Amino acid sequence: MRVTIDESFCDGDGRCVSVCPQVFAPDDDGSVFVLDPEPEPSLRECVRMAQKLCPHGAITITS
Ligand code: SF4
Repeated sequence: MRVTIDESFCDGDGRCVSVCPQVFAPDDDGSVFVLDPEPEPSLRECVRMAQKLCPHGAITITS
């Protein structure tokens, strides 16, 4: 599994960080970045939840 954020869509609200802090983290400038771009399979559900909750469709998961 590979996780990316399209920064042109992300508004930095941090919903993904709230549900999956193992993979997403806040940046110093108020945006969010992918802390772990190739997370373990055990984190799949958490990443999927973050993708579902993202209000701007900024999170992409590829396998
Ligand atoms: S939930 Fe989406 S818009 Fe919000 S910080 Fe995460 S990637 Fe950005």
